[in-house]
Amino acid sequence: MRIVYVNGEYLPEDEAKVSVFDRGFLFADGVYEVTSVLGGKLIDFDGHARRLERSLSELDMAAPVTTEELLAIHRDLVDRNKITDGLVYLQITRGAAPDRDFAYPDESVAPTIVLFTQSKPGLADAPAAKTGIRVISIPDERWGRRDIKTVQLLYPSMGKMMAKAAGADDAWMIEDGTITEGTSNNAYIVSGRKIVTRGLSNDILHGITRAAVLRFAREAQMEVEERAFTLDEAKTADEAFITSASTFVMPVVAIDDAEIGGGVPGPVATRLREIYLEESRKAAI
Ligand code: PMP
Repeated sequence: MRIVYVNGEYLPEDEAKVSVFDRGFLFADGVYEVTSVLGGKLIDFDGHARRLERSLSELDMAAPVTTEELLAIHRDLVDRNKITDGLVYLQITRGAAPDRDFAYPDESVAPTIVLFTQSKPGLADAPAAKTGIRVISIPDERWGRRDIKTVQLLYPSMGKMMAKAAGADDAWMIEDGTITEGTSNNAYIVSGRKIVTRGLSNDILHGITRAAVLRFAREAQMEVEERAFTLDEAKTADEAFITSASTFVMPVVAIDDAEIGGGVPGPVATRLREIYLEESRKAAI
């Protein structure tokens, strides 16, 4: 049985408990991170730890553990659950106040911290990377602070269900005429040999994979332009792809009814995936 971490204890998953008054449950008052594991090692742990700190500070939430302790817990869980390839999910909420009250409780209420692993053998060899995925476009109906990685993921869940109902794999969201991002990933197009992706703002999550991929692209002398792009531009692009901690770089071969790059993964996305996986494995801890 899986061993999970809850508020300082390692427990079998069916013995781990969180209060019904927890603000994560009542208000989605919590933040999370997902760090992938390849070959038993953590990919880009430092990036995830830094973003977590920022999410917590934007919500005036205290960190219940130090970054060093967090790393130790991640490693313990990977070992105890014998994870070779997979991911570590981390969630911190503002904790369980004595009553349901919109106002934040005082510091006497301790945050809740939960971590668990998911085993995904062959995570880096997902068959979809060879065929590419299909996305649909939907309006972006999320809140305005998408730069904070909160657990309020209902609209992204609805988006995935809309994609599924349309026979697609995922959805790209549109606001004021431009693509913001995927339901759980950052969105890119390639025109000529130029990689285009939306710049960082409160409109999107500042992807840790995005930062690494753009750095590797620039190091490989690829041209990168950080700006918003339209759905029409995306539909007529040479290539499209997404990035996230669990999909790495994943080619997109259709947007709504438009095939991209003849319906097969393009050379830029394919090369970036190779570079990303190679460099990330080297730097894994
Ligand atoms: N955007 C959104 C909305 C996401 O949920 C995610 C993944 N959590 C990403 C982008 C990609 O971020 P990362 O590369 O850090 O996984």
